[in-house]
Amino acid sequence: MRGFDEIQTWGVVGAGTMGHGIAQAAATSGYDVVMRDVESELVEGGLQGIESSLSRFEEKDELTSEEATAARERVTGTTDLEDLADCDFVVEAIVENMDIKRDVFADLDETVDEDVGLATNTSTLSITSIASATDRAEQVIGLHFMNPVPLMEGVEVVVGERTSDEVVQLAHDLAEDVGKTTWESDDKPGFVTNRVLMPWIAEGIRAYDEGVATKADMDRGMKLGTNVPMGPLELADHIGLDICLDAMETLHEELGDRYQPPYLLKRKVEAGDLGKKSGNGFYEYGE
Ligand code: NAD
Repeated sequence: MRGFDEIQTWGVVGAGTMGHGIAQAAATSGYDVVMRDVESELVEGGLQGIESSLSRFEEKDELTSEEATAARERVTGTTDLEDLADCDFVVEAIVENMDIKRDVFADLDETVDEDVGLATNTSTLSITSIASATDRAEQVIGLHFMNPVPLMEGVEVVVGERTSDEVVQLAHDLAEDVGKTTWESDDKPGFVTNRVLMPWIAEGIRAYDEGVATKADMDRGMKLGTNVPMGPLELADHIGLDICLDAMETLHEELGDRYQPPYLLKRKVEAGDLGKKSGNGFYEYGE
């Protein structure tokens, strides 16, 4: 498989919120990028998104105008999948729909060289199932960037059933090379982040709907009460409500009712493991 040192051009499929963010992160780190969407207006929208984000970085003196200009010039937009043929690594960031993602991976498998690694930015879907639409399942991996990509440091590397160690290492290396910090998740629904985040958002929405608090108090309460940067309703808006719904539907279908108190929690409390105050919870705190 094409290794880290051989990668100069990234292909990005999808020019929406995540696709253009990923393209920008790669371009700012010196990679050439070919970004593809299905219609020219969508490609143009993605390029404009990159343009305005780079301008903000310039205004804040986080990029020089030379760096921003060089990044802009490294991104080429297209509607033609064939333009990804010479890419050294491809990340897909299209709608969260298994059938559409599998079609795109089957097309990519035909289009890009057989030694190229393919990544999906899916939030919840099975990497293993997406990979099985190709003849290179061992070269397919989840590379789950966070929104907004240029600002968020974390990237979740999701390891499918047949994903090789080589592509796992490549995914960590590439993400770190574009300034990110990675962690790994097994290919279970929602991985680490959305498995935990989506029920939190869902409960925030339900509690608001049941009149527990106003929208503002729901978000303020969770921010000030639990030290998170955004409450559930504003975070849902930030992610995209459609994206949240797609993610919740996948988790519901795969995991069922996850809102019962976990047995592990009950057993820990019965055992007197109450967290920091007892010196033992999910972690050990000593005296
Ligand atoms: P989005 O709706 O902003 O963008 C999706 C883009 O994909 C659209 O422009 C659409 O035209 C394009 N597209 C659809 N089919 C295509 C195809 N066959 N070829 C090329 N482009 C195609 O969605 P998004 O928020 O960028 O999400 C993209 C992916 O990233 C999803 O899998 C989502 O779950 C994941 N994700 C989203 C977030 C978030 O906060 N929005 C965070 C992490 C991961």
